[in-house]
Amino acid sequence: MQNARKKLSLVVPFYNEEEGVARFFARINLVFAPILDHYDLEVCCVNDGSRDHTLEELVRARESNPYIRIIDLSRNFGKEAAITAGLDFASGDIVVPIDADLQHPPEVVLEMLKKWEEGFEVVLARRTDRTTDRPIQKLAARAFYKAIRYISRVEIPADVGDFRLMDRKVVNAVKSLRENCRFMKGIFAWVGFRTTIVDYKVEPREHGQTSFNMWKLWNFAVEGITSFSTVPLRVWSYFGGLISLLAFVYGLYLIVKTLLLGVETPGYASLMVVLLFTAGVQLISIGILGEYLGRVFSEAKRRPSYIVREVIE
Ligand code: UDP
Ligand code: MG
Repeated sequence: MQNARKKLSLVVPFYNEEEGVARFFARINLVFAPILDHYDLEVCCVNDGSRDHTLEELVRARESNPYIRIIDLSRNFGKEAAITAGLDFASGDIVVPIDADLQHPPEVVLEMLKKWEEGFEVVLARRTDRTTDRPIQKLAARAFYKAIRYISRVEIPADVGDFRLMDRKVVNAVKSLRENCRFMKGIFAWVGFRTTIVDYKVEPREHGQTSFNMWKLWNFAVEGITSFSTVPLRVWSYFGGLISLLAFVYGLYLIVKTLLLGVETPGYASLMVVLLFTAGVQLISIGILGEYLGRVFSEAKRRPSYIVREVIE
């Protein structure tokens, strides 16, 4: 145990979670009561433009729980931006982003703290099963982690999300990466540091509904890949080279054949096939260029990832 009292900051994004606020803090109070002798607690609640009464509920919860700090964003910026805002405001020696819907059991934070006391700077919480996910989601997640492992230079661990403990050093490093496309899993993995893992079981959502549908998850995956790998850009030059080579060989074959056997009219089928195929390949590669160009565009604008309306503390 360290001599000086250390401060633990939880960073919690809230988006339309009015039913869950009271329950969340009841659980927090229960779980963290035993460690308050050694640690100061701060909970940075980021209200990510909720359309319900989440903000009012947070303000009410703060009356009885003075450790709550509320960061009210001007609109919905998305979970990644909300976590970024929370990390910017958190002042703890140890920071743990955690979901408001209690799918990340707060008890795991105690385990993480033990690892931190042993000297680890990052403690990842790895979900041991995905039974709360739909089967297609499970499959997609597996494919995504596999793909990104192959084509990106940063090692993004599978089944690890935003739920993790970070030392102040790590938080400062994460804060120094100011890119606008905030693919947090990638950013967290990129900064490195002495890392270990604790396992946990995801709990079913306590109330309400997930705000991530398949389309959002797909966009999330595309963002992850294009933010942390340029392989999809580069692969097309090789593919194009291969196709050109094949076309060249085929052209030679046609010339020789015409010289030896004379002109032959049929050939519509092969022409069409080649034409459609190359057109398809070109469209795909233009699409991929577009993905990256869009990313460059949004970085070039240098907009902040979030706007704060008010901080209540
Ligand atoms: N969330 C957010 N902004 C959003 C969507 C979600 O701050 O635009 C928060 C939400 O309140 C919750 C966490 O992110 O605390 C995880 O969201 P959710 O439970 O909907 O996602 P899932 O658990 O299905 O990944
Ligand atoms: Mg959830």
